[in-house]
Amino acid sequence: MRQCQALGYKLMKMKIGGAPLAEDMQRIEWALEIAGGGQDLAVDANGRFDLDTALAYARAMEKYNLCWFEEPVEPLDYQAHAVLCESTSIPIATGENLFSVQDFRNLVRHGGMRTHIDWLQPDPSLCYGLTENLRILDMAERAGWARRRTVPHGGHQMGLNMAAGLQLGGTESYPGVFKPYGGFADGIPVVDGYTKPHDTPGIGMELKAEMFTQMRRLMEFA
Ligand SMILES: [Mg+2]
Repeated sequence: MRQCQALGYKLMKMKIGGAPLAEDMQRIEWALEIAGGGQDLAVDANGRFDLDTALAYARAMEKYNLCWFEEPVEPLDYQAHAVLCESTSIPIATGENLFSVQDFRNLVRHGGMRTHIDWLQPDPSLCYGLTENLRILDMAERAGWARRRTVPHGGHQMGLNMAAGLQLGGTESYPGVFKPYGGFADGIPVVDGYTKPHDTPGIGMELKAEMFTQMRRLMEFA
């Protein structure tokens, strides 16, 4: 997390659920010392909790004022989301494992997700690209969701382009992970949690030298 801060990031996310609850709370408190406050820290359970465990975690974490609690339960268990959203003040985030407008419509209809504090996280690579993402945004807007409450999962140039072009709430980034495909243009820094879109045509792959070299090699081989 200190390395991420040194790279210019502000809001950071940590995994939870791999340790017992009490140990996870200690881990969160250590992370908060680095993040500086709950608004700059999110937690992600990757859908591994049953509802009772998710409720226990939500209760234990409420005092930390975290930015969000991501994938607390099985992504397609909409009723579990509804119970959780009814029971906790922590913002809930989910969507990286929902792959279509139909899935997101069911989440919005039946998941009890709150338009003023919760987050939708479609992954543009996993859910049929920009076209299906536009359908998801359109459906969510009709259901009362501001685009600012959507943060694309994935952490790449495509997500950044979408966040800027569609005025979403932000985009993920995984510095050092999923190389060379993750991350943004080489020459455009992240400053205090913000970065700029590139000004070249297309997705901007040419501005990620390592990725572009690898893709060119694959294309030429093909
Ligand atoms: Mg996640």
